[in-house]
Amino acid sequence: MQAAGRFVVLGAFVALTAQARAQTALPLKHAPARTQTAITPADLMTRLYMYADDSMMGRLAGSEYNLKATAYIASEVKRFGLQPAGDSGGYFQNVPLVKRQLDPSTALSIDGTALRTWDDFVPRDPGRATRPFDGTTVVFAGVIGDSSMITPEQATGKFVVVAARSFQQVNRGAILGRFRSAAGIAVTGLESFPPQAINFFRQPQTILKDNPAATADTTSLPVYIYVNAAATRALLGASPDSVKAGAAGKTVHGTVSFVDTPAPARNVVAILPGSDPKLKGEYVAIGAHNDHVGFDQTPVDHDSIRAFNDAMRRLELAAPDHRVNPAQVQQIQVNADSLHRIHPARKDSIYNGADDDGSGTTSVLEIAEAFAGARGSARPKRSLIFVWHTGEELGLFGSQYFTDHPTVTRDSIVAQLNMDMVGRGRADDENGGGPGYLQLIGTRRLSTELGDMIDTVNKARKQPFTFDYQFDATGHPEQYYCRSDHYMYARYGIPIAFFTTGNHRDYHQVTDEPEYIDYDKLAHVSQFVYDVATKVANLDHRVVVDKPKPDPHGNCVQ
Ligand SMILES: [Zn+2]
Repeated sequence: MQAAGRFVVLGAFVALTAQARAQTALPLKHAPARTQTAITPADLMTRLYMYADDSMMGRLAGSEYNLKATAYIASEVKRFGLQPAGDSGGYFQNVPLVKRQLDPSTALSIDGTALRTWDDFVPRDPGRATRPFDGTTVVFAGVIGDSSMITPEQATGKFVVVAARSFQQVNRGAILGRFRSAAGIAVTGLESFPPQAINFFRQPQTILKDNPAATADTTSLPVYIYVNAAATRALLGASPDSVKAGAAGKTVHGTVSFVDTPAPARNVVAILPGSDPKLKGEYVAIGAHNDHVGFDQTPVDHDSIRAFNDAMRRLELAAPDHRVNPAQVQQIQVNADSLHRIHPARKDSIYNGADDDGSGTTSVLEIAEAFAGARGSARPKRSLIFVWHTGEELGLFGSQYFTDHPTVTRDSIVAQLNMDMVGRGRADDENGGGPGYLQLIGTRRLSTELGDMIDTVNKARKQPFTFDYQFDATGHPEQYYCRSDHYMYARYGIPIAFFTTGNHRDYHQVTDEPEYIDYDKLAHVSQFVYDVATKVANLDHRVVVDKPKPDPHGNCVQ
C-alpha cells in the first residue's frame, strides 16, 4: 500500500527482545494433499521467500531490482502457459517513469550576487514546464492569509515573494493556484522547514511521464522556490516587515529547471482465455503490485525496530482512539535503551515488502497457476487478465498507466480484484484479528451486485471470513480506497474489490519479512479470491454498475 504522507518515520532505536527473536522460525502447520496446481500455504511460502528475498533489494520501481522481480513473475506465467498481454507480444508493459532532478545549471542572482542553491533557496518541481523569469521584477505579494495580499492579476509576469509565518501555513497547490500567471514564486520561511523535508526535496523524484490526458491543462507554470531570510531580503531589497504588499523589489536573474532520466519499471500482464466463445471477449482483472520501496544507505537494527513497533502497536490497539501519547512512547524508549546496551544489533537496510505486496504478488501467481491448470467446467467462461502493477508505492503509477493504456479494451474489463497486503491480520496485528479476519474496501462503491456476490461466495465457504468493512467508510481518514491500485480501475467506472488483511507494525519497515507472514491465511485469501473471480467470470451478465462513476481525471474521494 502507498504511504499516507510523504514523510514516514522509519523506526527508532530500541533493543532486541527474546520474543522478536523467537518469531524467526515459522512451522508449516500442515502439508495438505494437493494437485499440481492447487493453492497451498507451502507454495505461497516458497514463492514469497524468493520474491521478498534480500537479493530483490526492495524491488523499487525505477531501479534494476524492479526488472529482476518482474522477470521472475513473467517466467512463471510463461511456464503456466498464459498468453502474453503486454507490449509487442510480450508479458511486460513498460511504464515510462523518469527520475527528475534539479538541472545543475540552476542559478539565481540579484544585483550580480548569486543565491546559494539548497541553502538560500530550495526549488520545487511544479510538475511541468516552467516559465522563463530572467530579468523580471520582484513584487512582494504579502503574507499568506492576509486580506492585503495582491491579486492574481497584479502578480502576472512578476517574480512574487509570498511571506509564510511558518511552513505549516504553506499549501503549495493553493499558492500555485492563486499566482499561476506569475513568472516565479518565492515562499519565505525556509528556516522553519524540518530537515527531513529539505532532504526529501533534494532527492530525485521518480514520476510517471506520460502523454497528458486530453483534458489535462498543459500551460506552463511559474518557477517555485522556498527562500530563507537572507534571500528574501535580497529579492525585496528590504526586510519583508518594512514593505507593503504590492511593493516592487529587485530584478532577478537566472534559470531554475529540472532534468529527467528514464527509470526502468514495468507491469506484467497475462491472460487466461475464457471458455465461452460469447463471453471470452470480457475480462475479470486480478491484480497486485510488484514493487516495494527499495533500500536505505544506512542500516538500522532490525530487532530494535520490530520490538519498538511491537510495543507501539499493542498500545495503539488498546487505545480507544488508536493514538499513543508521548509519555507512553518515552516509556518504550527507556525500556528499549536499557535492553539495547545488552544486545548486539542485527543490521538491516532492505525493505523486503513481504506483505506489501509480496503477499498479493505471490497470491495472484498462485491463483493464475490454479486457473491455468483448470480443465473442463472449472475453466471460467470470461477471460481473466492478471496484472502485476509497478510503481504503486510511488503513486499508483503502474495501474494509472495500465488503465490509461489498457492492452485490452477498457470497457471489456467487467471487474478488478486487487490484493495488497493479504498475509497478516492476526490478533496482535488488528483488533478482531485472527484466522478469519479480512478487510474489504470498495466492493459496493460502483456495483451493489459485486459486493453482495462477494458476501454470498463467502457464506458458502466451510470457514467463512469475518469481513471488516470499517476502512471502506466514506471519508475514513486512512484513505485506503485511494491508496492502492484498484482505484485506478474504479475511476473509469470498473467495479472493484480491494482485499487486505490490513496495516501492522511492519508496514513500510525493514521488518516486513516473509517470516512474519501467516501462510495459512494467505492461502485462504487466495482461494477466496479465486472463488470470487470464478463467480464473476461465469455470471450470465456482467456485474451491474448501479452507482455513479467518478471523474477519471479528478481527485480520489474516500
Ligand atoms: Zn506499501
